[in-house]
Amino acid sequence: MKKYWLVGNWKMHGSLASNATLLNAIRERQPALSPYVDMVLCPAFPYIAQMASLVEGTGIQLGAQNASDHLQGAYTGETSPRMLKELGCGYVIIGHSERRIYQGENDGLMGRKALAAIDAGLIPIICVGETAEERDKSRTHEVLARQLDAAFGYIRTAHDQVIIAYEPIWAIGTGIAATPEIVQTEHAFLRSRVAQRDPSFAARMPIIYGGSVKPGNAASLFSMPDVDGGLIGSAALNAEDFVAIYQSLV
Ligand code: 13P
Repeated sequence: MKKYWLVGNWKMHGSLASNATLLNAIRERQPALSPYVDMVLCPAFPYIAQMASLVEGTGIQLGAQNASDHLQGAYTGETSPRMLKELGCGYVIIGHSERRIYQGENDGLMGRKALAAIDAGLIPIICVGETAEERDKSRTHEVLARQLDAAFGYIRTAHDQVIIAYEPIWAIGTGIAATPEIVQTEHAFLRSRVAQRDPSFAARMPIIYGGSVKPGNAASLFSMPDVDGGLIGSAALNAEDFVAIYQSLV
């Protein structure tokens, strides 16, 4: 059976109380997880320790939304991927478009962050995606190739593990998901680009889709051959929706 990843990106939402409520509601609706669908929750930094203790023994895995490109040092305000690993994270989202847009992160930094995450024992979820304008100007593949190549300048395909998240910026938080056909086309492009470096790595590399995934469109998006799961924003904050999306994968 094919393996899938369902990642909930909680972004800058939550509180001690609402995190516990949301997790309980997810657990009530989905008490046992499928061995074929990994569920990963990515709360904001201050709640990583809280969530680590709440998910213990549930099979739900933990991720962070960002990490430093350094493992330690005089970097005020930064969080080392090694710290995230120590607290129980297995994954970290790298290069989300909201960080590129609001924090000015660029392709090179994304590559260095991916490498630091790997060196700390985390699996980076590397986000790539084009703006509406880039798509309109038929520059999607040029942009995806540039973003991907920047990250793969650092990744050692012989032994590293990464997940790629295709997140077209025009589909994030807009309610307008990419069509399954667009998603399949771009995922196949991403896989073929990586295959130029290492075909066997590309064949096993999970590529997940993010951008307005909802219970109503999840099954058709996930039915595409090159789609290995989803990176969910707003629907991950609603237990009923998130579990419905999970169940479309099992
Ligand atoms: P939405 O699901 O809210 O569109 O957000 C997607 C996203 O940015 C996940 O990282």
